[in-house]
Amino acid sequence: MGRQNLGYFCALFAAQMIHQPSKRIATLSESATLAMAARVRACIAQGRDVIDLSLGEPDFSAPQFIAEAAKAAIDGHFDHYTPVAGYPELRAAIAHKFKRDNGLAYEPDQIVVSTGAKQSLANLCLSILNPGDEAVIPAPYWVSYPELVRLAEGVPVTVPTTLENRFKITAEQLESALSGRTRLFLFSSPANPSGSAYTERELAALAAVLARHPQVIAVSDEVYEHIHYGNVHQSLARFAQIADRVVTVNGLSKAFAMTGWRIGYMGAPKWLADACTKLQGQLTANANAIAQRAAITALEADPKKIRYRVDAFRRRRDLVIAQAREIKAFQTLLPDGAFYIFPDVSKCFGKAYRGTQIGRAWDLSLYLLEHAGVATVAGEAFGTANGLRISYAASEAALREAFKRMKHALD
Ligand code: PMP
Ligand code: GLU
Repeated sequence: MGRQNLGYFCALFAAQMIHQPSKRIATLSESATLAMAARVRACIAQGRDVIDLSLGEPDFSAPQFIAEAAKAAIDGHFDHYTPVAGYPELRAAIAHKFKRDNGLAYEPDQIVVSTGAKQSLANLCLSILNPGDEAVIPAPYWVSYPELVRLAEGVPVTVPTTLENRFKITAEQLESALSGRTRLFLFSSPANPSGSAYTERELAALAAVLARHPQVIAVSDEVYEHIHYGNVHQSLARFAQIADRVVTVNGLSKAFAMTGWRIGYMGAPKWLADACTKLQGQLTANANAIAQRAAITALEADPKKIRYRVDAFRRRRDLVIAQAREIKAFQTLLPDGAFYIFPDVSKCFGKAYRGTQIGRAWDLSLYLLEHAGVATVAGEAFGTANGLRISYAASEAALREAFKRMKHALD
């Protein structure tokens, strides 16, 4: 080999070493929920009969009155960049919504509209955390929380909760998890994946703990606010002693069945809203202008207009709970909200079904996909290894069939 060729091959080798994702991306986990959904799409494309109970997205369409508002926005040529934090009318509508539905006093200049609640959460982690700062997250948690914290070079401190306590963190647990390094407490209510919602008393107890730790910002993820079957939804920012340190995150994906429209928002202390706006100005700029116009109509409307969906979800919850309780290997709570059940499936561990050894929830999820044609998400992705998340955002017929198949595959 000539000297020139040798030089070329050395350069090629060096390039191959360099052309790899950054460490930041190499160490980032893929979203397990989206990965399972992609796997299901591939199975269906191959002609397999799979009932998809993996992804958390309503199977309804967006309400017609919101679709009409989007059409009017297209015809009205809302074609251009908007202010980074969102149209002023939308921020005013969100401030009004927070007051009307949640009794919260965020001003429009404390509101930032983003490309989904997921971006709101990413903006927050990147705007709050310095390298090494801790973020306390009760487990089971929504898959993206710890990853977003890690992306911001923070350290997720997960606190395991128990089925006996309905997968909710207690004031004592929160107190012992908080340290001088904690900057963030991040939770959802109603929660993904457990479906549990915190009561006013439980939130009051958490607020009393947070009041003693003024360095901590609490992020209350309330995207399932309207899918709540029992008591009135409660917001952590209601508690006056910590209100100036609570961020409330919400969005249109779940309540209005508009996951693909990508509109999320936050109400935050002004300094933090400004920081998130600065960051978003460099990342994505404004959220989609047409979807923002439609969001004004959605949020100005009386929430009663979407009430029929909650009633449908309640029927489905009751149906899946009745069916899940027929499966001996599942130990299941009656959820307060959202559209998931999260049974403890540890009774299956160590068993073999049709020759498949089940060591953990991941094995069970794959077994159910292979042998029952039902897609679920293993609890490991939510930080609770004994659980299995089953979404009931599917038709009653699909749910009946899915549970019949799972029972057959497991009993
Ligand atoms: N928070 C929770 C708890 C969720 O389940 C979801 C669903 N993907 C999100 C945030 C993000 O919602 P989106 O980005 O679609 O607004
Ligand atoms: N939040 C939904 C879920 O948990 C959507 C998927 C995602 O964004 O992770 O399935």
